[in-house]
Amino acid sequence: MSDVIVVGAGPTGLMLAAELGQRGVDVVVVDRDEAPTPFVRALGIHVRTIEIMEQRGLLDRFLARGTKYPLNGFFAGISKPAPSYLDTEHGYVLGIPQPEIDRILADHAAEVGADIRRGKRVDTIEQHDDGVTAELSDGTTLHARYLVGCDGGRSTVRKLIGVAFPGEPSTADTLIGEVDVTMPADEMAATVAEVRVTQKRFGIGPAGNGSYRVVVPAADVADGRTPPPTLDDVKRQLVAVAGTDFGVHSPRWLSRFGDATRLAEYYRRGRVFLAGDAAHIHPPMGGQGLNLGVQDAFNLGWKLAAAIGGWAPEGLLDSYESERRPVAADVLDNTRAQAELISTTPKAQAVRRLFAELMDFDDVNRYLVEKITAISVRYDFGNGDDLVGRRLRNITLSRGTLYSLMHDGRGLLLDQSGALSVDRWGDRVDHVVDTSADVGFPAVLLRPDGHVAWAGDTQAELDIHLARWFGDPRV
Ligand SMILES: Cc1cc2nc3c(=O)[nH]c(=O)nc-3n(C[C@H](O)[C@H](O)[C@H](O)COP(=O)(O)OP(=O)(O)OC[C@H]3O[C@@H](n4cnc5c(N)ncnc54)[C@H](O)[C@@H]3O)c2cc1C
Repeated sequence: MSDVIVVGAGPTGLMLAAELGQRGVDVVVVDRDEAPTPFVRALGIHVRTIEIMEQRGLLDRFLARGTKYPLNGFFAGISKPAPSYLDTEHGYVLGIPQPEIDRILADHAAEVGADIRRGKRVDTIEQHDDGVTAELSDGTTLHARYLVGCDGGRSTVRKLIGVAFPGEPSTADTLIGEVDVTMPADEMAATVAEVRVTQKRFGIGPAGNGSYRVVVPAADVADGRTPPPTLDDVKRQLVAVAGTDFGVHSPRWLSRFGDATRLAEYYRRGRVFLAGDAAHIHPPMGGQGLNLGVQDAFNLGWKLAAAIGGWAPEGLLDSYESERRPVAADVLDNTRAQAELISTTPKAQAVRRLFAELMDFDDVNRYLVEKITAISVRYDFGNGDDLVGRRLRNITLSRGTLYSLMHDGRGLLLDQSGALSVDRWGDRVDHVVDTSADVGFPAVLLRPDGHVAWAGDTQAELDIHLARWFGDPRV
């Protein structure tokens, strides 16, 4: 019997497996595919995900394989310079194709002990009082105390536990792929620029690996029986939209995606949880889906580990849904808004022009960038300063930086007074006595995901919040 079965070795499942594995949790990841997909869906990671990687000491691996781009054009593709100030050290997008992201996360998960098994599909699951049993396509059975469905938008786990997935079906599909082209680069760039004045769902340009990434509206909306697109489908749509097929040939891969927008009604049913695309789907505008899934995993990992370690306080596991579901609902809404803004109807184009004017106000621009990059997320922890519930950026301390002290994924008390103690929770929480010009409180208590659990100065208050997030003190 394992502690946790993670279904799906996409970015969400791999991040979760790593968060569990590094805390000594016995975790098995199963994925139906024999090998990771070569399809490049996400093209990069946003600020909060970059910070998360830094919090776990992984950022160097991502920086070594990525390219930094300005934070421009991430709301409905409206091009504006990045806001004058963002509350982060990482005010950029890190361009890195999803297969690379997945590979880094898979390597890390394996290094911290996750057992990743490919070519095994989960077909049925059954919950018992003390665990979950999953039957796999190879006829074997796995048992664990918990199971997490990170198995993508068509999640089998979600269906098996009977969680509804309400929302809107796809109304507009898009073809996507990597191809070679014969059209000269300058002619292509000029044609793309002209077509994109009105058609924002179209583009073709270098993919960074010698081939070209093509994106073009599909002629129809797929149902379960629609076959994958062919090169001829792509050519036909390019001609329809741009008047030329750019001489596309030799596809490396072709796929399609829709704009369905759905949110799981529940994120938890007993011992089974949902995370990532299994819990929420939306059009890829703003480049948020992978980031959202990784951040789900970052929220759930330490809580599940706490439950398995026997110290999870009452309600901790349920806080996964109450914290993360509203965040996803907000992302779904911003993609709905962006979908309107890229519509080619005259009314939508007029709203887009107005919106673009509003984004010239630095505060408006910053508000939207903070939303897309997820650095404005604030969990509702009840009363407290505005800081409480937010993530703390990598602040500078007199002896180093905050995130460098969080690689182990434990709680942390930053104590500028030196008068406080976490001794009774010392097996779960680090005590850092240091000062920072960036924090206006004598002390802040951080959860393992870097969100501020408490800010104040008295031991009595601190103890209440330590118990709330880290359970009973040691006897
Ligand atoms: C065109 C496009 C562009 C995108 N661009 C971006 C972007 O720039 N930035 C961004 O953040 N996001 C982007 N996204 C979204 C992003 O790709 C997804 O949100 C992300 O892959 C979700 O990760 P996941 O791990 O939750 O699910 P997935 O990546 O879908 O992984 C699910 C895994 O579960 C496995 N699985 C499924 N069923 C079973 C089963 N029954 N048993 C075992 N295994 C199973 C699958 O094989 C798969 O490996 C884009 C998406 C698309 C379509």
